[in-house]
Amino acid sequence: MSQLSEWSDPGLADRLASVRAGVDDACRAAGRSSEEITLIVVTKFHPAELVAALAELGVRDVGENRHQEAQAKAEALAELDLNWHFVGQLQTKKARQAARYAHAIHSIDRERLVDSLTELERPIEAFLQVNMTDDLGRGGVAPADLEALAERALGNPSLVLRGVMAVAPLDEPPARAFERLAGYSERVRAIAPEASAISAGMTHDYAEAIAAGATHLRIGSAITGNRPAPL
Ligand SMILES: *Cc1c(COP(=O)(O)O)cnc(C)c1O
Repeated sequence: MSQLSEWSDPGLADRLASVRAGVDDACRAAGRSSEEITLIVVTKFHPAELVAALAELGVRDVGENRHQEAQAKAEALAELDLNWHFVGQLQTKKARQAARYAHAIHSIDRERLVDSLTELERPIEAFLQVNMTDDLGRGGVAPADLEALAERALGNPSLVLRGVMAVAPLDEPPARAFERLAGYSERVRAIAPEASAISAGMTHDYAEAIAAGATHLRIGSAITGNRPAPL
């Protein structure tokens, strides 16, 4: 760990504090309590040292979008006992491996993926990712197939269905996209009342996400600074 603690980014604490203050402001404006919010810091492409520095600043939840990178960091930082959130597209054949370190998978978007996550050593949290675009390659279940996917997840005792997840499309105002997402969340809650979480809101749209009911924010660059090129 000595090497880890030598790493430093003097701006990190300030950026984290300013996002936390921004979250508090958005909650106040929406008449919500910031205790309803889980802030997941997305650390993709950044070294494990940055994740360790975040942990020292009190961060408990971190997000990653690529399995190999996430696995390496989770192993290197196992003693910190962080909650690792997998937020990227997940190949079916990598799913069981991801479930070994992941606290939650936010990108459950097809029945085959649900079925590959049976009989896990410990249950993990599942968010159903909804595709909010017309582009099938973007990841996420088509809204029309959401209920069937929710039923499938509910039938798998290794998954704790938490709710829905989405990335706002670039060509639509985020507030409008998150209103639609709130509607998808209602549809899932009609089947699974306890699955009330909404994973939405990134660096540029988290205030709109909070206004529309988001419970899990996935914020990267506003806190970590610009991402280095992928390894
Ligand atoms: C990278 C990423 C984020 C964070 O994005 P920022 O704009 O850096 O906050 C959130 N969600 C997903 C799915 C991501 O891939």
